[in-house]
Amino acid sequence: MVNERVAVITGSAQGLGKGIAEKLSKEGFKVVISDVNEEALSSTLSEFKEKGYNVFAKAADVTKIEDHDALIEAAVEEYGKIDAYINNAGVEGVVEKIEDITEKDIDFVLDVNVKGVFYGIQAAAKQLKKQGKGGTIINAASIAGHEGFDFLAAYSASKFAVRGLTQVASKEFAKDNITVNAYCPGIAATGMWERLDEKFMDVIGTKKGEALEQYSSSISLGRTQEPTDVANLVAFLASEDAGYITGQAIITDGGMLYR
Ligand code: NAD
Repeated sequence: MVNERVAVITGSAQGLGKGIAEKLSKEGFKVVISDVNEEALSSTLSEFKEKGYNVFAKAADVTKIEDHDALIEAAVEEYGKIDAYINNAGVEGVVEKIEDITEKDIDFVLDVNVKGVFYGIQAAAKQLKKQGKGGTIINAASIAGHEGFDFLAAYSASKFAVRGLTQVASKEFAKDNITVNAYCPGIAATGMWERLDEKFMDVIGTKKGEALEQYSSSISLGRTQEPTDVANLVAFLASEDAGYITGQAIITDGGMLYR
């Protein structure tokens, strides 16, 4: 059967979002990639075009509600509809003791990770309801949304919030046949973890690579995750086969947190 589904992915020029975009493209989805980093977005678009994927790019900053609307409008203009809206964009923010975190630091993380997902849910639900055929919204949470990690207070709070939003949205949109779920990665050595490893050096006195090694040492499967590990879960959630799953925040961490 030909896959006619259209997926929009925020923060997909790099890291996990790029991996998700690649997996969905290989599965035959029409994919709209998007990012605030326009240079990375254009380079990923060229790479994907060369690989023959059916992909379209539009820059968007998830902290701006109007950017979500413009992104969806562009996707509909290009592909006629959306089926899956993936709120992937996120930032790690500071690694700091709670008492030293500034208001600016807190706002930065909550603006991207919470408001960015909030606005994405609102914009996607509006479009999916208009289309009248259901659909799915998939949000990036984290293992840090299941257990608070020390020195990552704003980040952990933001990912717990994403789980809350996911549950509320799944209840409110169920009557419209719109499912809402979250994926919770463990430790993937993307740009985010490269930066986290550096930031931990100042706070817990680790050397380069040590924080990543310490955090990864409890992974049962004995390795950090690849973007494809996360993309496999998201591709399932974006498929029709996941149509009876909603309101869940599913962990993919190689066996770190047992919930
Ligand atoms: P990354 O930093 O490698 O990539 C994130 C992408 O999002 C970048 O391309 C960046 O430009 C973009 N972005 C940042 N702010 C944006 C904004 N305001 N608007 C639009 N795009 C923006 O991060 P990643 O590791 O790929 O993480 C992706 C998601 O997965 C995030 O939500 C993150 O919190 C979550 N996550 C990652 C890990 C991990 O180990 N890497 C673990 C758990 C959860």
